[in-house]
Amino acid sequence: MSELILSSELLNRLIDGRVPSKDEAYQIYQDAERDPSELYKVSQFLRSKHKGTIVTYSRKVFFNLINLCRDTCSYCTYKSEPGQAKISMLSKKDITELVNIGKNYNCTEALFVTGERPEQKYQEARAWLKENGFSSTAEYLVHASEIALKGGLFPHTNAGNLTKDEMRELKKTNVSLGLMLENSSERLSEKNMAHQFAPSKNPKARIKVLQNAGELKIPMTTGLLVGIGESPFELIDSIYSIKEIHDQHQHIQEVILQNFQPKQDTPMRDSPSPQEKYFKTLVAMTRIIFPKMNIQIPPNLSPKSYSSFLSAGINDWGGISPITRDHVNPEFPWPQIEDVKKDCFNSGFHLRARFPVYPEFFPLVNSDLKLKMLEIADTEKLVSKEYIK
Ligand code: SF4
Repeated sequence: MSELILSSELLNRLIDGRVPSKDEAYQIYQDAERDPSELYKVSQFLRSKHKGTIVTYSRKVFFNLINLCRDTCSYCTYKSEPGQAKISMLSKKDITELVNIGKNYNCTEALFVTGERPEQKYQEARAWLKENGFSSTAEYLVHASEIALKGGLFPHTNAGNLTKDEMRELKKTNVSLGLMLENSSERLSEKNMAHQFAPSKNPKARIKVLQNAGELKIPMTTGLLVGIGESPFELIDSIYSIKEIHDQHQHIQEVILQNFQPKQDTPMRDSPSPQEKYFKTLVAMTRIIFPKMNIQIPPNLSPKSYSSFLSAGINDWGGISPITRDHVNPEFPWPQIEDVKKDCFNSGFHLRARFPVYPEFFPLVNSDLKLKMLEIADTEKLVSKEYIK
């Protein structure tokens, strides 16, 4: 009982703008396991204070550029092997066609996703790159981004651990980049754990990439994968790891909390997805540790209950595509944008379309890209209502 009182007092201090220490956060989490209502009240309060009643999403086209991957994560169904039906290797013509379709649907984001350096492992990837005139996936990404930009979409690339030089090149055409930290615990790379065969998921390697992006002043999306064998304390530590990087460079534009969903064709097929209470508590913890951050959950991964996460403190749904599937979670279709709009409204919020870079991070984007976005932006630097229609 006394611990609960301690936590309540602490939560009251957070309302006044104080960020909890890690030990305090552990205590708040433990109390919330018994009764999360106080925590949700505070996370909602902080959300309202810093984000008002607007909830955003990005109207995107998902370009599954190449899904061969040098690594193997135990939960991943995105990765393909040569010869499998799900393999994707988009040609320049494929990209151009998809850009045109996206433009007709008033999309604004071109999300480019690839596996981790496929050319290091697969002859097929090297041959495909050569055929298209490139020697690396990163080189092709630069070109693909140019095609998207020329066609009226704004690129956001998520291609694993890019080098600093590769990111510097991509910054010319991409308004932001993405790299999930997933978790900062090295334990998840140990034997029989989710990242045992994925050296690129080593947290030190990921943190280095996020720091390099900070030095390059690139708006970065990152986040955590919840339910892959971590402890709640490792997740809390991971939130603090992101915070430390952001405090240093002020470039993390968004933290995604993604709930693991088991895939039948993976070694983790029998692992359960995280319980909703656990997931929601971690979402609320992220809000109190990061009061001003943009916090996102993907609505398609909580299809029946996504709008209830508004009361845990989120303010964004991430990319939603009216035309392409979620290739990382292909069994979970995106909700209809009109339905999300209604659900937000019924919960007291207004849905607005944003660019793949949040308004407050426009100053980090190069002038040409900024001017192009401003052509279809409103005064709040969100996509104008007239453009979406
Ligand atoms: S999650 Fe990413 S790094 Fe891991 S196997 Fe899949 S594509 Fe590769």
